[in-house]
Amino acid sequence: MSWLDKNPPASISNPDLVIAQYKSLSRQAPLIYLIGLVGGWSLAISHWSVAPAWAVIYYPILVSIVSAFRIVNWLKARKADVSVLEAKKQLDRSHVMAILVPLLFGFWGFSLFPYGDLALQGQVIFTVCVGTVSIMFCVLHLRTAMLVGVLCINVIGMTYFLVYQNFDHFAVFISSVVFCGALVFVFRNYYDDFLQLVTIGQQLKAKQTQLELKAEETERLARENEKLANHDALTGLPNRRLFFNVLESKCSEALAKEQLLGLCLFDLGGFKALNDLFGHVAGDSLLLQVGTRLKANVGKSFIARLGGDEFCVVIENAANAREIEMKGREIRDIFNAPFLVPGGGVSLSGFVGVAILEGETSSYVHLYENAAFALRVAKRKSDQPFILFGEAQREEMRKTVLLERTLLNANLFEELSLEYQPIIDIRSHRVRCFEALARWNSPELGNVPPSDFIPVAEHSGYISQLTSYLLERALREAKDWPEEVGLSFNLSATNLSSADTVNQLLGIVERSGFQPERIEFEITETAVMWDYDQALKAVRTLKKMGVRISLDDFGTGYSSLKQMHELPLDKIKVDRSFVQGITSDPTSYGIVKSLLTLSHDMNIDCVIEGVETAAELETVKEIGGDLVQGFLLGRPLPPTDVADCLEKAECKQREAWASAS
Ligand code: C2E
Ligand code: MG
Ligand code: MG
Repeated sequence: MSWLDKNPPASISNPDLVIAQYKSLSRQAPLIYLIGLVGGWSLAISHWSVAPAWAVIYYPILVSIVSAFRIVNWLKARKADVSVLEAKKQLDRSHVMAILVPLLFGFWGFSLFPYGDLALQGQVIFTVCVGTVSIMFCVLHLRTAMLVGVLCINVIGMTYFLVYQNFDHFAVFISSVVFCGALVFVFRNYYDDFLQLVTIGQQLKAKQTQLELKAEETERLARENEKLANHDALTGLPNRRLFFNVLESKCSEALAKEQLLGLCLFDLGGFKALNDLFGHVAGDSLLLQVGTRLKANVGKSFIARLGGDEFCVVIENAANAREIEMKGREIRDIFNAPFLVPGGGVSLSGFVGVAILEGETSSYVHLYENAAFALRVAKRKSDQPFILFGEAQREEMRKTVLLERTLLNANLFEELSLEYQPIIDIRSHRVRCFEALARWNSPELGNVPPSDFIPVAEHSGYISQLTSYLLERALREAKDWPEEVGLSFNLSATNLSSADTVNQLLGIVERSGFQPERIEFEITETAVMWDYDQALKAVRTLKKMGVRISLDDFGTGYSSLKQMHELPLDKIKVDRSFVQGITSDPTSYGIVKSLLTLSHDMNIDCVIEGVETAAELETVKEIGGDLVQGFLLGRPLPPTDVADCLEKAECKQREAWASAS
């Protein structure tokens, strides 16, 4: 196989080679014409006096004009970018030129040959041969053109001398053919190197492209990661992480420019219930709609989803505090219209906490803490769903911080105690059980009600320790109660939040030796709805041990009938707020009556909480209530008074009863 076969001619299938060959040709082509012109003119001058004018003047001028035209063309082409197709066209044309150029210059040289003496004839042959070799060098990278050109000039020479039967000079051209053949062979290596260079160039280019693609991909992934790390995947809004970064810079800017800045945090009341009732698809759809409504209404402000159903809006450049408050209220109103989710339309009560960045003492951390506190207050006081952090909240916050600090340093054994409030069966006039209620007598703060310190303990993560201590104590104090009297004990959401916390409770009950059947754990509706699935698991574990479960403050949360049915409940406790209006408000009356009917239908007990007056007691009895808890029949008592209460319960009840009738 010849080297020509091994190296197929440049074709469009190798565009890089085509371009490389074209570039090389465009660089060398002017040189080829120059070599031809220098050689031709040197011969014309040598033959000036012996050759006719057409051979030393007119033909050389014609060739020079053609060459000049070609040189200019090639010089222009060198600067321009060409397409692969155009380059290929030029290369194909070079094959024709490989015949025309030797003819053009060969004719010039050989036309002078007959007029010179031996020396001049030698000069012609020398010039033609050296010119040929020089041009071969110029078209090293165009193998075919080189072969055609070399062949052409040698065939012209040989034919010329054969025709004129000048065998000496014919022999010179035979040597020239051999010599050129040898050169072609030698140039093969250069051509191979050229090909290799082009291939390496191609590989490098491919590698570079690959690297560029990789770099682009890495950059895209980095951008995506950045987006994922800083944005909420569901709503596409900035997440908590980005929120804090942005809030920090916006606060610094506002402080520097002395502008007012407000932070509005809000939470969708009842979202967890909706999630549990309608499923996560509905929950996601609702969150998406919230995001869309926010973008549509306050899209110019910075909006973020901080997690769960908590969102925030940063209000910038407000003229005054009133404007921030108005905007906060407007944001709350965005949620007034019902949302359409798979499963039906739902209305939610949004809770909003707003805080304003104030003076040099404030920072973005303070701002967030203040807004979060305002939101907590709004959620606690569900009748006041919008709270602007002000003096009252600052005072409350100060108290909460003080309370938290004092509670964490409190001596549990000395400062905490329990009181027991009877839950009475008004049909049999007997105490069914006592509810253990925590009491904290702090040397610094005095008597602190559980409604104040329990939420603080929950918030600070201290509640597990507190519950363990109180439960152990309650079980110890209830040890000697009559067997038919049970113990009701309040749990927090945290106590149900994991298998560990539940096992902790079970361990305490087990170690106490108290019969589990006499223990009733009260869980609030809000605690259940905090994480319904986990609460359900926890309740099932507790039930396995034999303890009873009571749903406290029923009617104040967002649980559904479905969930009530699913939870293995033994009792519901109707919240005091419904009983307060039972004698005057038909709605309260209707609710209590329905709940009683419901509990009967579900075959579970129902306690009516907070009965304070004989009239309330009478109404409760009238509508079928049998278990009652309230100041009328018994206030919370220290453990030492429990025995006395048990003794006198019946006569106390009869007294109450008598005053009612
Ligand atoms: P709760 O479980 O609903 O307890 C009943 C609350 O209503 C008690 O308030 C009780 O004193 C009060 N109460 C009972 N009858 C009447 C009445 O006729 N009128 C009025 N106005 N109030 C009545 P207390 O002791 O202040 O407890 C408040 C809440 O603190 C409890 O509500 C319970 O949720 C929580 N709590 C109390 N002790 C504990 C505890 O050891 N652990 C946990 N996690 N929470 C507790
Ligand atoms: Mg309770
Ligand atoms: Mg209650």
